[in-house]
Amino acid sequence: MQLPVYLDNNATTRCDPRVVAAMLPFFTEHYGNAASRTHRYGWAAEEAVDLAREQVAQLAGAVKQEIVFTSGATEAINLAIKGVLEAYAAKGRHIVTVETEHKAVLDTCRRLEKQGAAVTLLPVDAGGRIDLAALEAAITPQTILVCVMYANNETGVIQPIRAISDIARRHGVLLMTDATQAMGKIPVNVEADGIDLMAFSAHKMHGPKGVGALYVRRRQPRVRLAAQIDGGGHERGMRSGTLNVPGIAGLGKACELAGAEMAVNAPRMAALRDRLEKGLLAMEATSVNGSTAYRLPNVTNIAFGYTEGNALLTALNRDIAVSSGSACTSALPEPSHVLTAMGLEEELAHSSLRFSVSRFTTEEETDHAIRAVKEAVDMQRKLRIDLP
Ligand SMILES: *Cc1c(COP(=O)(O)O)cnc(C)c1O
Repeated sequence: MQLPVYLDNNATTRCDPRVVAAMLPFFTEHYGNAASRTHRYGWAAEEAVDLAREQVAQLAGAVKQEIVFTSGATEAINLAIKGVLEAYAAKGRHIVTVETEHKAVLDTCRRLEKQGAAVTLLPVDAGGRIDLAALEAAITPQTILVCVMYANNETGVIQPIRAISDIARRHGVLLMTDATQAMGKIPVNVEADGIDLMAFSAHKMHGPKGVGALYVRRRQPRVRLAAQIDGGGHERGMRSGTLNVPGIAGLGKACELAGAEMAVNAPRMAALRDRLEKGLLAMEATSVNGSTAYRLPNVTNIAFGYTEGNALLTALNRDIAVSSGSACTSALPEPSHVLTAMGLEEELAHSSLRFSVSRFTTEEETDHAIRAVKEAVDMQRKLRIDLP
């Protein structure tokens, strides 16, 4: 067992060695530009991109003409929201989204708001899910986009995407979803789920960093999108720039593996997560943050009362790699916006840790994590004089 045990798979994952193997030939052997139409080097690259597009489309339930490769989910989200706003400005400039979205969505919306767009942020319940009636009530004749993440990165909570889509469609509004955490872990199907735009990323599903994709619906309805990066007209004009051929080949392979092995990996991860969760909840004053009924199979977010999350992280550094319910973007750690949106007290948000397993996690590792966390929590609580 290698220490510290890696339990931060919602931040990023280990690249699967089979993915690395699929990428390698495109660095030193088939290094052509996929846009070079006049020679073999270009053709080989183009062929690899085409295969990857097929593999990605397959996992999403899409067709390959609907896949636009990007540098990751952040770029795909920016392209989707800004591109729709620009293309549909004549209809209106109102977006409905949710308080618990990833910063890639929230910060994009905030910028657009400064430029004159209107943004409604829906609240969530204690379980982290939106209220469908509140969504419907928020839609106005000016609304052009509903943007709700498939599954949350901090809690794993899954939103009722099909029901959300039904409401959006009834009002003639497009649905965009950030499926970065859902893709490859649970079945996601743009047709069955009624999704119009969907962003995701390779490095959250054992692919390489710096590559992702945006699904853009082509029929019923055909989504119009204004490009946000201009240049050589790559990706059917929606995202110019020489394609990252090795990265795209890696994303394709990662999608193929995730799809082929989901039926094995999802229950296996769920069993490990449940084992970990049960072990940790055996301690007093601990509780799970967010719905456990609607949740990804690989993550648990736990509040450890009477502790401080960042101090726990420091104490646990040698044993496990996890993340806390505080964002250290500034000098003073801010409580997680996701946890506070669910009604968690700031103090308890600061006492929370996120554990996320992967297909590579073992039972030995989760058991080590349980022991280490128990020890660290006990130690911190002993030092407190204000315990009941
Ligand atoms: C990681 C993540 C992103 C950002 O993805 P990048 O590819 O790193 O830009 C966006 N949304 C969610 C839910 C994520 O987990």
